[in-house]
Amino acid sequence: MEKGINLEKFNKPYDPKEVEGKIYKLWEESGFFNPDNLPAGKVKSQKLKVKSFCIIMPPPNANGSLHLGHAVFAALQDLMIRYHRMKGDKTLWLPGADHAGFETQVVYDKKLEKEGRSRFQIPRDQLYKEIMEFTLANKKVMENQLRKLGASCDWSREKFTLDEDIVSKTQDAFIELHKQGLVYRGERSVNWCVKHQTGLSDLEVLHEERKDPLYYIKYGPITLATVRLETKFGDTAIAVHPSDKRYKKFIGQEVEIITLFGKTKIKVIADKAVDPKFGTGAVKVTPAHDPADFEIWQRHKNEIPKPPAVIDKYGRLDLLAHFPYNEKAKKYHGLKVLEARKIIAEDMQKEGLMEKVDNDYSHNVSVCYKCKHILEPRITAQWFIKTKPLADPAIEAVKRGEIKFIPDRFKKIYFHWLKNIRDWNISRQIVWGIQIPAWQCQDCQSWAIAKEKPLNCDQCQKSNLELDKDVFDTWFSSGQWPFLALGWPDKNDFKKYYPTSVMETGWDILFFWVARMIMLGLWRAKKVPFKYVYLHGLVRDKERQKMSKSKGNVIDPLGVIDLYGADALRMALVVGNTPGNDPIIYEEKIKGYRNFANKIWQASRFVLTNTQDFNDKAKPKSTAADKKRLKELKKLCKDITKQIESFKFYAAAENLYHYFWHTFCDKIIEESKSRLSGENKADRQAAQYLLLEILKTNLRLFHPFMPHITEAIWSHIPDNKNLLMVEEWPS
Ligand SMILES: [Zn+2]
Ligand SMILES: [Zn+2]
Ligand SMILES: [Zn+2]
Repeated sequence: MEKGINLEKFNKPYDPKEVEGKIYKLWEESGFFNPDNLPAGKVKSQKLKVKSFCIIMPPPNANGSLHLGHAVFAALQDLMIRYHRMKGDKTLWLPGADHAGFETQVVYDKKLEKEGRSRFQIPRDQLYKEIMEFTLANKKVMENQLRKLGASCDWSREKFTLDEDIVSKTQDAFIELHKQGLVYRGERSVNWCVKHQTGLSDLEVLHEERKDPLYYIKYGPITLATVRLETKFGDTAIAVHPSDKRYKKFIGQEVEIITLFGKTKIKVIADKAVDPKFGTGAVKVTPAHDPADFEIWQRHKNEIPKPPAVIDKYGRLDLLAHFPYNEKAKKYHGLKVLEARKIIAEDMQKEGLMEKVDNDYSHNVSVCYKCKHILEPRITAQWFIKTKPLADPAIEAVKRGEIKFIPDRFKKIYFHWLKNIRDWNISRQIVWGIQIPAWQCQDCQSWAIAKEKPLNCDQCQKSNLELDKDVFDTWFSSGQWPFLALGWPDKNDFKKYYPTSVMETGWDILFFWVARMIMLGLWRAKKVPFKYVYLHGLVRDKERQKMSKSKGNVIDPLGVIDLYGADALRMALVVGNTPGNDPIIYEEKIKGYRNFANKIWQASRFVLTNTQDFNDKAKPKSTAADKKRLKELKKLCKDITKQIESFKFYAAAENLYHYFWHTFCDKIIEESKSRLSGENKADRQAAQYLLLEILKTNLRLFHPFMPHITEAIWSHIPDNKNLLMVEEWPS
């Protein structure tokens, strides 16, 4: 960039479109995004020991464009990164991209649907290849979008969750967990999405309130209430609360009941999980199709037979295998759950098996967080991680203060979740993800855990082994991201930057991601993955509404950057954005900071054109008022530094904004005008000195918040030696 003041350029209003791209190129070519190229020990006091500062960027899902949420993290993280770089720390911001398993599969499913195709008809290898191409193309787009935001991350260190080394080490972790007895293959009731044809983890389940008929059905002498009439063919018992006097005499007995399929017997058991206030206090137990019933079965295995699965993976009744000679079974077989429910209700009414129906019953149902289909609990075999042995150290580390939460209140939520954590289902029945290194013997069904196909089965010695078709839950690899991205166990970066300094991310993935990174980081890398967790909220519009396509209130970050510049967007995302709370953003707010950028531009032009003859060798004869202003400036530096250090970025941004506009522009510049045009040369020099000092200091202070415009103006400062991005921070 040319030096000296180009008045012609300065005379026009600030045009971010013309400036920002060029500035980014300048930064990227300087090599300073890479901490290895930073001038070490530039600051005197740090000559001996250079501190390091590292943020691992939450790898965005490479399945679409960046949205405003990504812009929030880019603004906050780049702010910290630029601040620490200027302070002289070895500063690394490591970018990445996430293959985002199920999430990407869902996006790709939609694309296929539009093309009239289905993933269930595409050969595995081809599907994987297609999604890989799709993901890599998106990854490229995302990288350029991050550049547009001004992200000063080290692209030379960028990692992708499907990089060979990441895949290999993720599989190693599974093998090691298995060796330590922390992985097991379990038949469990899992949340099954009939649309997506995969099991989900508890975290991927949404609970929605629905109104459904509650049926009171007669089971011999006992009446019980249920919504899920269609699962009755899978009933294995009637359960009551042990201290429920109404049913005391039945407990442990078999009662004779009449069902749609004729007479049969069923056992009455007592379990504390039964709520005596629900319905009649008696419930049917259907372990194959209800997670709570599955738990009851686990506790009463010697009393209850193995439950039949009467609903298949497509959510249809599957009865013929269990009731091959029954005419009614034929009638219901193959019906979808809700159709079946209606018909069964009618038939039971007709046969006098229904006592009454409560049509006004509200309850919570579990739905897929992606497609909102009601989830079908199914007993399937999946790989589980025993989480308790991992969760306990994760609780202890935070208790010891090795990790601090910003804001602190999230600590409580974190503890609560980890204390009640359940084993983690890490199998996903999709193609897109990291292959689980498990082989099943086709002769004796036993499993071998290994990357390479074992020659023989351990158990039966035959050599008929097949690779598991499932892949890992995407959070299993991203849960190991900080240490894997840094090249654990032997890369220098890992030794230098782990534990990292700050993990900055949305509070909505506190459990999905943050807690798991802490658990897996402690287990694998033996240290916490980061010292601070900064959690930001969910972007909302002026009416505090979530942004969504259907509401039409979505702000596209790239669109507003085009209109108002990345600096304006970044300021708008930082001001008013307190940790843990939802930031409010709307177009006028961004526009306001575009106007502010203009104000900075004009003020800088005024100062630079009026100081061209300033002699920086001569000692200025500052007045008492000048000295007061300089003292005030020093205090500003102290305040801003303190606010950034304590994660009060919103306060620092607002502080700077008000100082620049209402103190510097409205007062100091105004007051200087007569001195600049006056006869007193020494006083003119003093005024010039004051203006230049304040401008230069403000450019530095503003740089982490509005990096492009400050760098652009800095290039016109006559005696600048460095890019502003590596100038010394004024503390
Ligand atoms: Zn679904
Ligand atoms: Zn075998
Ligand atoms: Zn003000």
